[in-house]
Amino acid sequence: MEGALTARDRVGIQDFVLLDETTEAAFLSNLKKRFSKDLIYTYIGTLLVSVNPYKELDIYNKKQMDIYMGVNFFELPPHIYALADNAYHTMLTEFNNHFILISGESGAGKTEASKKILQYYAVSCPSTTLLNTVRDKMLMSNPVLEAFGNAKTLKNDNSSRFGKYMDIQFDSQGDAVGGHILNYLLEKSRVVHQNHGERNFHIFYQLVEGGSDDLLHQLGLERGCQHYNYLTQGQCPIVPSINDKNDWKTVKNALQIISFNETATNHLFEVIASVLHLGNVRFDSDSKGHALLNNNTELHWVSNLLGVDAHRLQEGLTFRKIEAKKDQVLSPFTTDHAIYARDALAKAIYGQTFTWLVNRINESMENEDPSRKTVIGLLDIYGFEVFYVNSFEQFCINYCNEKLQQLFIELTLKSEQEEYEAEGIEWEPVQFFNNKIICDLIEEKHTGIISLLDEECLRPGDATDLTFLERLEEKMGNHPHFLMCQSKNDIVKECFSSMDPDSRRRPETVVTQFKSSLQKLTEILVAKEAWYIRCLKSNESKQSGQFDEALIRHQVKYLGLMEHLRVRRAGFAYRRKYDVFLKRYKPLCPATWPHWRGVAADGVEVLVQHLGYLPDEYKMGRTKIFIRHPRTLFATEDAYEKC
Ligand code: ADP
Ligand code: MG
Repeated sequence: MEGALTARDRVGIQDFVLLDETTEAAFLSNLKKRFSKDLIYTYIGTLLVSVNPYKELDIYNKKQMDIYMGVNFFELPPHIYALADNAYHTMLTEFNNHFILISGESGAGKTEASKKILQYYAVSCPSTTLLNTVRDKMLMSNPVLEAFGNAKTLKNDNSSRFGKYMDIQFDSQGDAVGGHILNYLLEKSRVVHQNHGERNFHIFYQLVEGGSDDLLHQLGLERGCQHYNYLTQGQCPIVPSINDKNDWKTVKNALQIISFNETATNHLFEVIASVLHLGNVRFDSDSKGHALLNNNTELHWVSNLLGVDAHRLQEGLTFRKIEAKKDQVLSPFTTDHAIYARDALAKAIYGQTFTWLVNRINESMENEDPSRKTVIGLLDIYGFEVFYVNSFEQFCINYCNEKLQQLFIELTLKSEQEEYEAEGIEWEPVQFFNNKIICDLIEEKHTGIISLLDEECLRPGDATDLTFLERLEEKMGNHPHFLMCQSKNDIVKECFSSMDPDSRRRPETVVTQFKSSLQKLTEILVAKEAWYIRCLKSNESKQSGQFDEALIRHQVKYLGLMEHLRVRRAGFAYRRKYDVFLKRYKPLCPATWPHWRGVAADGVEVLVQHLGYLPDEYKMGRTKIFIRHPRTLFATEDAYEKC
């Protein structure tokens, strides 16, 4: 190994499992070395670590796809296509379901990764002309959902403000034949409020910048976002990296491909326009402090576009309806209340529209053929978010991440154990932090944060953020993981706004709905074989070529990458199917080269004897060879490179 510059010196190690030492410093140094050569992908076993390069790399094209198609995982440099391909081929040979969990913080590259995987399947898998339409629809669902569900934030110019799980369905031939999307917790508050330096959802800007004169006229809109309150609060309507006019064309085209006819498209833009008009509805107050509409023009547009009665709409925005015995009494709002009601309406309209849109997309990708299909699920879910002031959204987002991390821990440990068991190998389990305690703190019946929150939201009377905090402290002030007092959240308001006033049942709060949708998601996921992509953000300023070590160290830590690496190395760092191992390394032994005539396992035994593997260094499982130390495989790999 000394003397000549090995591949390992030049481009780092392509699998962290092969590192000589498992220190954080060694991990980061390898990542940095590779990043400096534009090698953004590195494995930890079959887990893919990806570092956002913030520049276009020439590694996502048909030629690259062809290179990775059907090739063994470890035989080529790490690539997202290799992972996609491995999942795909395992699915085909084992005829089971899979999912790819993509995690990382905002701006780390999750959405880009999920798009690359989808493209890989759409372009590389076998196809018949008929099915191309389903693929086109799957691909085109992306620009549409991004227009309605993504926005510019401080962290990412194209930040997904909803969680997305997409199943890609394959028939037994491996054709991509259908798709289905589940969406999670759209950040509706963005419709009515944006922080400084952030924007509303892209679609609004696309419409007022890119829509034709005729369309804008028909919707009562002026060209340019400066005319709309809901578009200008963040004071950054124009973003250099975003071309709203072009994106508008893309979205219009995509809508057509996913079978939106003219009526449906018009309906969609009417709703979007109505939200913009609503945002411009203003209130004055009369001598008693009651809210009055400042003028009727905007309200009439809303009522026109939504097809609702203007008078009722006005009443809804300025009065509260109180049921007294059999009578209904109207009690006037203050201007603050009226603004709150207006914004709540805008959020509800947008939220419902988004759900409707996802349903329509699902209908268009649905495959009605009853024959059995297998799926690969892609989970692109918002990463941990910590801001100076954290609100209800951050609570849900971070809760979701804790839940997925727990799943990851269970699945990696579980699958590891199961594999040893299936192969008849003994091993020593590794201890590491299990975040179940955090999930319990949130979820436990009666005493968890969600239960307390529900109680507080549903308690008649004057529940406020403060009373909720008091209850939390009273119930769990001593809990070791309760840090939450610093949160200045709008939780109670948010939950109240989601309640259905006409319902006589005890309504479900947003957070409880979210909890059950996460539970469902977990059920969907545990039934499948898991693949992981961990995306790392290289720097905060979205610059190419910058490797911010402190920032990356932090992510490596909370994503549990070192722990994962240790688990991977604790038992047997490497395992390979006998035939794969033999095929690759047979040139290293005269008895196996060029052909081994016999059972692959026996050939492997002969081969490793020849290479001088000590008995303690490896174990022969039922179908695979297990190698304890990476250096053993590394030496073999080195010998292979030289031969
Ligand atoms: P996330 O979904 O994790 O919040 P995105 O996938 O939206 O992050 O990525 C943020 C931005 O980073 C993208 O808009 C793109 O500019 C850049 N980016 C991410 N992944 C890549 C990649 N593989 N190659 C080039 N640029 C990327
Ligand atoms: Mg995203």
